[in-house]
Amino acid sequence: MSLIQIKDKCFRTFIPEEQIQKEVIRVADEISRDLQGEAPVFISVLNGAFMFTSDLMKNLSIPCEISFVKLASYQGTVSTGEVKELVGLNTDISGRTVVIVEDIVDTGLTMQALIKKISAYHPKEIRIATLLLKPEKLKIDLAIDYVAMHIPNDFIVGYGLDYEGLGRNYRDIYTIVE
Ligand code: 5GP
Repeated sequence: MSLIQIKDKCFRTFIPEEQIQKEVIRVADEISRDLQGEAPVFISVLNGAFMFTSDLMKNLSIPCEISFVKLASYQGTVSTGEVKELVGLNTDISGRTVVIVEDIVDTGLTMQALIKKISAYHPKEIRIATLLLKPEKLKIDLAIDYVAMHIPNDFIVGYGLDYEGLGRNYRDIYTIVE
């Protein structure tokens, strides 16, 4: 086990690189099997999903396209701070099978908002792939098709996930030491 310090917080190794890679390959195999003949469009949610997306794509064996999106705070004249807009979607997804690629589903509210936004483009089907799921925190009824790993309700960093902008570069996933 190794400890890292990011700003005022200490983290310890939680999921080592080898285990992450094994689970990502399993998810990639499941997607390749389920979506054979579909030529899906993967929609990767920045910033957190960039590393998962990269490893997932390298292990897929079906033809696929990718688009990177962000959920940004609404920039209009009236902003509640809650309203988010989807930016960066540059692929025509109407009638296509879409796989949303996320880093982590916590309460599920971000994913719910994403599904609503993406549905407006009339895809044939939306599937969800997440690296991590915190089942105890899930607030809504969400059908998640692909989950690499289930984790307890603690704050984690590494493998794309940050604490105050730092820690995304680690190959392992770390959990907070209280
Ligand atoms: P939700 O809307 O499902 O509650 O939250 C999803 C978002 O919260 C994720 O995309 C991620 O940005 C952030 N998040 C939730 N849990 C964690 C965590 O343990 N670590 C980090 N770094 N981000 C988290």
